[in-house]
Amino acid sequence: MESIQQLIAQQRSFFKTGQSRDVAYRIEALRTLRAGIERYQPRILEALHTDLNKSEPEAFGSEVRIVLGELDFALEHLTAWAAPRTVPTAAALPDATSTIYPEPYGTTLIIAPWNYPFQLAFGPLVGAIAAGNTVVMKPSELTPTVSRLIFDMLSDLFPTSYIAVVEGEVETSTALLKEKFDYIFFTGSTHVGRVVMRAAAEHLTPVTLELGGKSPAIVHEDADLKLAAERLVRGKFLNAGQTCVAPDYLLIHSSVKAKFAELVQAEIADKYTADVLSNPHFPHIVNTRNFDRLTGLMENEQVLFGGRSVRDELIIEPTLLDNVSWDAPIMQEEIFGPILPVIEYDDLNPLLDEIVNRPKPLALYLFTQNEQLIDQVLDTVSFGGGCINETLSHMTSHYLPFGGVGESGMGSYHGQQSFEVFSHHKSVMKRNL
Ligand code: NAD
Repeated sequence: MESIQQLIAQQRSFFKTGQSRDVAYRIEALRTLRAGIERYQPRILEALHTDLNKSEPEAFGSEVRIVLGELDFALEHLTAWAAPRTVPTAAALPDATSTIYPEPYGTTLIIAPWNYPFQLAFGPLVGAIAAGNTVVMKPSELTPTVSRLIFDMLSDLFPTSYIAVVEGEVETSTALLKEKFDYIFFTGSTHVGRVVMRAAAEHLTPVTLELGGKSPAIVHEDADLKLAAERLVRGKFLNAGQTCVAPDYLLIHSSVKAKFAELVQAEIADKYTADVLSNPHFPHIVNTRNFDRLTGLMENEQVLFGGRSVRDELIIEPTLLDNVSWDAPIMQEEIFGPILPVIEYDDLNPLLDEIVNRPKPLALYLFTQNEQLIDQVLDTVSFGGGCINETLSHMTSHYLPFGGVGESGMGSYHGQQSFEVFSHHKSVMKRNL
């Protein structure tokens, strides 16, 4: 596509002028972005409601606020992050100094998914700007109102030679991926992650892949059950389970299963009302294809509670499935919906083996007061990141790099790591004559 090539050529020329790498320019761009988000906020919230039925508090809390937090953190620290870093030099070279210069890669591509279509487009954007790059952004076509908003907003705030939005479907992504970028930051499914990495390999373009997977939640016999129920419900049913780090399935000690199920049900009723199908604020499934996939996964499973859905409204009520087998279809793919399979145990060890033998999860959540068990799980299971006695919150810290491992992704971002991931670290040794 000639226009894509022209756009990239314009961005390359602009990058060469050195403007985007000037730290004062980056700070000004971040301020412009922040002011723009505030100005566009009503439209952002409205678009998230239109595409996903997110309520205002949910849309603000899980999308806008996270981006504003990242922006403020970058604005506070950028000057220090961008400064050259002097490091020690080997004693054999006493007349030399060693310095690491963080430098922007150049022209970068950000591909975003639909589930947090604002946060997952603008979060990486903050890092790319902070590091001094130009950006081509491709939002998800499955949330068209948000995609259009991102296009309008970024076209209004920045020249396309610096930051440009290219809207479109898979063909557009494919056309973009044919071109040479200096860095690609992709958030989406593991399947498409492979496509992106293959395309990047053609140009030896470095990538960050923020992917998905099946993230277990484990509730042990000594857990604070009330607290675990509260936090599991928040983590699982936020955005109707369409969250990359949502607990995908529950492993629970058999002695506390019945009590815990009761507490989870009470918590759902308290948070979303007893009849979630008529709650106007519960988020919808993104489209019919995903709705049918999800209801299909429930077939032949034993419903512990929930299980009802309305196809016309794309709504599925929070559902727990009992005694699910590891071989069941629902245990073979990331669920990405408000359905929680439950597997009970008396001995956790074989279940930990089962997790270790599967693709590495993006997140893991463990509810227990047993420090030895915490150490055992952390020592034996590799996963992107996670929480003990909590869900999701690890991804809201500026100080915890967020990302997957193995099939759940590579590379990480948030806080300073967003700056680092969009920077090349140029190591230079200087001998003093
Ligand atoms: P997706 O992989 O289908 O799409 C993501 C983006 O890639 C979209 O912009 C889409 O247009 C583009 N795309 C789709 N097919 C493509 C192809 N064949 N070639 C090139 N580009 C293509 O993912 P999705 O359905 O939008 O998002 C859901 C997935 O994303 C889940 O697996 C979820 O776990 C994962 N996810 C991960 C994170 C994270 O931070 N790790 C965050 C959100 C979502």
